[in-house]
Amino acid sequence: MSLEKNSAGSAPLSLSGDLSSALSAKEDIRNRIEDRKLAVFLDYDGTLTPIVERPELAVLSDEMRKTLKDLSSLCLVGILSGRGLEDVKNLVNLDNLLYSGSHGFEIAPYGHREFSQTKGEPFLPALDLAEETLNKALKPIQGTFLERKKYSIAVHFRQVADREIHKVEEHVDAVMAQQNLLHKSVGKKVFDLKPAVDWNKGTALGWILEKLEMDRPNVLAIYIGDDTTDEDAFREMARMGGIGILVRDPLSRPTHARFALDSTDDVRFFLEFLIAATRKKLAG
Ligand SMILES: [Mg+2]
Repeated sequence: MSLEKNSAGSAPLSLSGDLSSALSAKEDIRNRIEDRKLAVFLDYDGTLTPIVERPELAVLSDEMRKTLKDLSSLCLVGILSGRGLEDVKNLVNLDNLLYSGSHGFEIAPYGHREFSQTKGEPFLPALDLAEETLNKALKPIQGTFLERKKYSIAVHFRQVADREIHKVEEHVDAVMAQQNLLHKSVGKKVFDLKPAVDWNKGTALGWILEKLEMDRPNVLAIYIGDDTTDEDAFREMARMGGIGILVRDPLSRPTHARFALDSTDDVRFFLEFLIAATRKKLAG
């Protein structure tokens, strides 16, 4: 399969089950990084750690941390998570990575660069009010877990009984109906409430690369993620000639990703391949 950017500049929609594995495209990718700088961006939950019952149980393995550390000594490595910024920074716990939380609304300084991103600020009162209302409303429903990040709210329902999930959504929708400043999206057993503004992992990724002057043909950007919010980043990758890789689960769904990986172990093998290919290039 050719990796060249398609002429329309947008990602074709494929079924995730039909995508080839990124591990079978090593030769193409090796060729593309031969004369390009590499920049690798990753989602956290479901990508670097397996999906777990509660967010605090998603602990990074020592092997994965070592892999990320090795890769970040060779190229830019960024983590773009729906988690709060401090939360994801603490979980990964490596110094020279670029970190973004709250779906791109929070971006930590990287090297000497500040990324002052204030798009979320005007939405803080609406988020505070929604948080307060939902905390009260969801209390009687066993298994709900509300997670406030600075610029978004996640309502997790992985542990809610199937027959009660509709009640969780009704409460979320009631809050949505009271205002028009927040936008609701559905991820893996989670409702996300985010500022209703055109900003997401994809726009954040494009903005970061532009700020770092890496939105150039001499850079190959790769984004790896597993959930619906990662689709924006896959679209951005296709638009700028990068590579979007979906960590897929057995249920096939439409995606803008170019390749797939089948587990977080596969993600690590793929990152190890990038490390080996980059080291070989530098040695050559
Ligand atoms: Mg994820």
